[in-house]
Amino acid sequence: MGGPDVQEVPSSPAGSAPSLAVTPPTSQGQTTSQLPKWWARPKDRLAQFIKYCRTYDLFGQLSKVEDGRERPQIPTADVVLGLFFTAVLRLPSLNALEGELKKAGFQRLLGLPVQLNEKAFSADTVARVLDSLNLDQLREILHDVVHRAERNKAFRDGPTGAQRPVALDGWQPFGSYHRHCKDCLQRKVKFKNPDREVIQYYHTFVVPLLLAGDAELVLDVEPLRTADLRRQDGETADTHDGEQTAAMRLVDRLQAEFGSLIDLTVLDALYPNGPMMTRVTERGYGAIMTLKKETDEPLKDALLLMAGRPPDLVWDDAIKKEHIVAWDVDDIETLDTFQGKVRVLRAEISSLSKPMQPTRTWCTGVIGELARHLHPRIVHDLHRRRWHIENTAFNQWTQHWHLGHVYRHSPNAVIAVMLLWCLAFNMMQLFTYRRLRRPRVPKDPCDTIKDLVTLMKDAVAALKAPMPWRLLRDT
Ligand SMILES: [Zn+2]
Repeated sequence: MGGPDVQEVPSSPAGSAPSLAVTPPTSQGQTTSQLPKWWARPKDRLAQFIKYCRTYDLFGQLSKVEDGRERPQIPTADVVLGLFFTAVLRLPSLNALEGELKKAGFQRLLGLPVQLNEKAFSADTVARVLDSLNLDQLREILHDVVHRAERNKAFRDGPTGAQRPVALDGWQPFGSYHRHCKDCLQRKVKFKNPDREVIQYYHTFVVPLLLAGDAELVLDVEPLRTADLRRQDGETADTHDGEQTAAMRLVDRLQAEFGSLIDLTVLDALYPNGPMMTRVTERGYGAIMTLKKETDEPLKDALLLMAGRPPDLVWDDAIKKEHIVAWDVDDIETLDTFQGKVRVLRAEISSLSKPMQPTRTWCTGVIGELARHLHPRIVHDLHRRRWHIENTAFNQWTQHWHLGHVYRHSPNAVIAVMLLWCLAFNMMQLFTYRRLRRPRVPKDPCDTIKDLVTLMKDAVAALKAPMPWRLLRDT
């Protein structure tokens, strides 16, 4: 999806009117004078968030997403908008959404006339929409937000400087011993007392999180496929996808969609092997990888080369209060399955504030021309930022975004929920750290967003008139 470049809306100084309150007449000849009064309040977080999403043409795009229901009574756009705000406001289930749909505030949020104690539509309708919602369109919107953020220079002044690293990792939102759908992966789990083996059903995604700017954005999600799905795709397979197979497919798609917007992948200890390293470098990317097994190449050879040698670099990190001693070797070519050269950085870290704490060691494998020429401190810092995918994304998704809960269990719904929630997550990241300029540190980012969600929920409850979405979807 294309669209005009949009500019970041700068934070309004306290007391001044936000810029969109004086938007010129729209193509329909309507003016923002038709917007409710609260729209012009400079510190109304809900109004600010909706205005901000509007600069990404988010609501225009969401209103065009289709589903496969025949003769639908409820417009898909209303349900999709309801789902987007279910994610933003962190409602824990479709039943909770149904509860909100009986309230005046949420009905007005969706632009609907108020019918007190009568739900605007049911959880069953939402479930049916999720079962056939167009995943390609949702994915395109997710990509479009990233492209627009890039045009807004969201990734040019981030903490990683010139590098645009993407952490890739597998994530399983939920597992069940009872409920399953035809696209569930399966594994046997052993229990004791009594001794038994039970089948667990689950879904897993490989998630790429762009770590380049203050806002950390999800670029896509790649589900692991069952053996059936793999055969439908023409593969000869009797097992489901491994995480690495899905990750390689994802690297291909990232390259096709984002090209040089990304420089590097940041990978955990599952990935430093020939096939993955070959795929990443063939697609023009570098990689910064966790190396754990001292008996495996390339770490085995690197440790031999480092043995008995003085360190190559020693530095203190004043912010983390750490003393770091590092060894750095390059041009390792001992892997039979990878034709390129590997650099290995080994860093021993001791705490300056707690000298009794044991020393920790980080071993980093580095491939790709650009990455192999980075300063050791940058390599080490980029490697440690891998944890952001655990902290910023996965932990928050489980603890605060309720993604460990099954909103709707069907093959299409599981992916649709992931894509919609990632879209809400990205908009919240951009809104919090770009629009409102909240610092990521030292304040806990979770608390910042949690506070904003509370303010937005209060604003929804206080809405006095239906949101004029016909006007707001028009950019
Ligand atoms: Zn399933």
